[in-house]
Amino acid sequence: MTSWGYSISRPRSIDIDRNDMSYSKELLREYPELQTCIACGNCTAACTAANFTSFSLRKVHTLVRRGEYQGMAEELEKCMLCGKCRLACPRGINTRQIVLTIKKHLANRSR
Ligand code: SF4
Ligand code: SF4
Repeated sequence: MTSWGYSISRPRSIDIDRNDMSYSKELLREYPELQTCIACGNCTAACTAANFTSFSLRKVHTLVRRGEYQGMAEELEKCMLCGKCRLACPRGINTRQIVLTIKKHLANRSR
């Protein structure tokens, strides 16, 4: 079967008012440039980990900005911290550093 490099997400509803947005706001305060993300997906297209796994950096930072953290710690374990995503981002967002920051936050939350 031909692989087009993406898959169709299952339909689901999001009630953003019920999500914990405190960390998302903190992340956007620390990295305001993340608000300029145009969801182009270049970070995922260039991603080394995405070549070998289902990892999608665009999905991860989109969900975290929405206050959705379920499964994120496991997802971020797939990142190799190579930094290619940062080079590919047309907005110059420091995506690698954002991965590290989210990982640190999730580790602190689980303590
Ligand atoms: S490459 Fe940059 S602008 Fe594009 S989705 Fe990734 S973080 Fe957003
Ligand atoms: S730093 Fe992580 S998310 Fe960015 S390209 Fe490398 S493996 Fe992918």
